Amino acid sequence: MSAELDGLTVQKYGGSSLASAERIRAAARRVARTASSGRPLVVVVSAMGDTTDELIGLAYKVATRPDDREMDLLLSTGETVSATLMAMALHDLQQPAVSLTGAQAGIRSTRAFLRARITDIHPERIATELRHAKVVIVTGFQGVTDEQDITTLGRGGSDTTAVALACALGAERCDIYTDVEGIYTADPRVVPQARKLAEIGYEEMLELAQLGARVMHPRAVELAELYGMPIHVASSFSEAPGTLIHRDGDLHMPMEIRKAVRGIAHDTDVARVTLVRVPDQPGVAAAIFEPLAEAGISVDTIAQSSGADGTTDLSFTIPSDSLERAISLTKSVSPQIGAASIDTADDLAKVSIVGTGMQSAPGYAARMFRTLARAGININIISTSDIRITCVVPRTRVEDAVRELHAAFELDRED
Ligand code: ADP
Ligand code: ASP
Ligand code: MG
Repeated sequence: MSAELDGLTVQKYGGSSLASAERIRAAARRVARTASSGRPLVVVVSAMGDTTDELIGLAYKVATRPDDREMDLLLSTGETVSATLMAMALHDLQQPAVSLTGAQAGIRSTRAFLRARITDIHPERIATELRHAKVVIVTGFQGVTDEQDITTLGRGGSDTTAVALACALGAERCDIYTDVEGIYTADPRVVPQARKLAEIGYEEMLELAQLGARVMHPRAVELAELYGMPIHVASSFSEAPGTLIHRDGDLHMPMEIRKAVRGIAHDTDVARVTLVRVPDQPGVAAAIFEPLAEAGISVDTIAQSSGADGTTDLSFTIPSDSLERAISLTKSVSPQIGAASIDTADDLAKVSIVGTGMQSAPGYAARMFRTLARAGININIISTSDIRITCVVPRTRVEDAVRELHAAFELDRED
């Protein structure tokens, strides 16, 4: 990027920070203050409040299965409303500004409607507007295909727009303004004692995001890690210092004495499919999971329990909204693989403990299971990686599980 864009900042404002005209005006005042330093500024906005949910609801009122292309064009309107209103509010403050849609901003994407991925960014228009000393407001969540169809990047995708623009424009860092003061040891709405982290590495943040901490879109963290882009997460309602997400090597924490468990994530959107008594032989898992993969259903935890009679029960979890399709796909392969029956559940959730320190220290799994047992919380499925342990539990108990684990691992205390 040219020298004129030196010191460029990207700020992103989430839906709750823009939920009303008054909040848009408040966010605009913050933007104008940053812009008054004279540094180039790009602002990414989400749709106002619950607009995206409302638009989806509306679509399902007019059609039983809304068309994906039409859905994306519909959903993109939410972000367009915010961006234009933000530009108008800035004009009212005498701050030159212009709003751009994702397409106008040069954000190209794949054709995977509802979950499109950014392929590349052509930021020439943004750069031109910045050189004219305008604050550039870009709609989050949107992309455009080579055929000029509008796409969206998946729920929560405005974070990814912000980080992608920060990387493409060579910004120093990406500021994410939201309705909490930063990244906490657990969802602060569930655990009042949760502690705000001053900083966290990409690896732990990515894991937390993938496991349900919706404060950051996982793909935004992935991109930031790839480009080494620091992200600062802070409240749009206060001046309190937020959380810096950056390279593990840049963390200021003492190297070996910090807590092994850094945070707890939970996700209430979990359904399970179990194929009962399938023959225990090669090829069965492939026959089940290939059609799911082709349908774009992301399978999460998988568990297999072998019986003595040469059969096994094979369970997997998926997001609730994929359950219907997963059932019909599983039913279609079930005669071929010889399953006795299919059992499903849509009342589950998962809770995960996350921390890079767990990889070299034993005993965390046992402590997690003991804590849940003491609270009378039944574990359905367990899955682990180097830096996390996940338990699938009844949805009605997941918030208790988060609170119990937060206390058991003493996350309310300083490192
Ligand atoms: P925005 O509209 O700004 O994108 P989101 O609702 O997507 O905001 O994300 C912010 C929410 O994420 C918070 O209100 C909080 O309830 C939730 N959250 C979940 N886990 C965490 C965590 N570990 N730290 C902070 N917030 C979290
Ligand atoms: N408005 C979109 C959503 O609600 C994108 C976002 O807010 O990040 O998912
Ligand atoms: Mg969000």
